Amino acid sequence: MSELMTPPLIIVGAGLAGWTTAREFRKLDSSTPVLLLTADSGDFYAKPSLSNAFAQGRLPAQLISTPAAKMAETLNVTLLPMTRVSAIDTKAQTVTAGTQILGYSRLVLATGAQAIRVPLEGDAAQQVLSVNSLEDFTTFHAQLQPVDQAADRAARQHVLIMGAGLIGCEFANDLAQAGYRVSVVDPGLRPLSALLPEAASAALQTALEALGVRFYFGATVRAVNTAPEAPASTEGLSVLLANGDQLRASRVLSAVGLRADTALARAAGITVDRAIAVNTRLETSAAQVYALGDGAQYASASSPLSVHGATLPYVMPIMTAARALAANLAGQPCELVFPLMPVSVKTPALPLVVAPPKPGTTGQWTSYSDSAGLISTGIWQWLDEAGLNRGFVLAGAQTAQRMAQSKLVQI
Ligand SMILES: Cc1cc2nc3c(=O)[nH]c(=O)nc-3n(C[C@H](O)[C@H](O)[C@H](O)COP(=O)(O)OP(=O)(O)OC[C@H]3O[C@@H](n4cnc5c(N)ncnc54)[C@H](O)[C@@H]3O)c2cc1C
Repeated sequence: MSELMTPPLIIVGAGLAGWTTAREFRKLDSSTPVLLLTADSGDFYAKPSLSNAFAQGRLPAQLISTPAAKMAETLNVTLLPMTRVSAIDTKAQTVTAGTQILGYSRLVLATGAQAIRVPLEGDAAQQVLSVNSLEDFTTFHAQLQPVDQAADRAARQHVLIMGAGLIGCEFANDLAQAGYRVSVVDPGLRPLSALLPEAASAALQTALEALGVRFYFGATVRAVNTAPEAPASTEGLSVLLANGDQLRASRVLSAVGLRADTALARAAGITVDRAIAVNTRLETSAAQVYALGDGAQYASASSPLSVHGATLPYVMPIMTAARALAANLAGQPCELVFPLMPVSVKTPALPLVVAPPKPGTTGQWTSYSDSAGLISTGIWQWLDEAGLNRGFVLAGAQTAQRMAQSKLVQI
């Protein structure tokens, strides 16, 4: 078959996972045709910048680091933006997008995850937003008026955030720093409770409260309604909590987590669990079909909780996975091995670095003490049952210890 007849490598999704795969692949193979299909514009932006853009006064358009057309040209990729893949035929090796049926030689699913939406009552429930893309952020940004720093604080818009996890805390810090009033509602008892030891969590709460953030713990939102009086008020929404308390807000942002959309893969008969299951070579259960990014569940991230491994919805795992996948696609067999991948939490009120233990590792957080037995404030290690160090948390100035602490972890 001539090269012209050979179906291309198709990548679905133009997020960090899709574009990084294309870039890494091109470093190893400059000639194989690559076709990238994506439901969005394909513009390249760093998604982490969505949760620290308000305080920096950056507009949505300014977050685009490279326009889609430029990315496609630089990487010699044919791009089909605003094109949603609706079906995969793994036998015929084709994808369906609208009326087009396109053949692939290899297929990479880099379709990401979607914000979880909890069912809410109320006539304004549809106004609750989540931010998991530049498009979402553009909508959210347009709904907030710029802060008039000279105005009375009570007259400023009030954002109620559902969820005190990573994204919720980052937005709380960013919006409060930008001058908005911010409340956070969470069913847990403290911020970032799934990731941090209690003392670090308490320190984060104190730092965010000092910025003006109000926390409502042990609480969930039941309904969001249009406030009956004063529609022009800055607090046009009435938020009913499950415990019966009522709060007023200008906007409600839901940050309760992400879930991979597995419908496309599942309908094609590809094995899915919490996300699309891939082995250590990033292969799915279907021949010539690969996956990575927020939509993938990696066997390389072994977890006693699932035979399919774990999801790793962060930037560093995507970069590592894309390099391994590109090598496999270029005919250089490569087993994906994840190094320790600490995550920086973008809460300038109290910067944090978190290297969580593998899911299912039993143990506990312990304050770090050096060889002389001196306890270092702001450093915690996760010690497993055998006393081995499996992860760490650094707070404030101790975030500078990232490299030193990484060397002490046994992965
Ligand atoms: C606000 C925020 C802040 C974050 N901050 C950090 C941070 O500080 N550090 C960190 O490590 N991580 C952070 N993350 C996580 C990190 O940004 C993500 O893990 C990463 O961007 C996911 O990239 P992805 O390519 O897998 O998915 P996505 O970016 O979701 O891309 C998925 C792509 O697939 C396309 N697509 C989906 N379905 C289809 C279909 N059927 N057909 C065609 N196209 C389709 C979409 O249009 C999109 O282009 C943050 C995430 C958020 C939301």
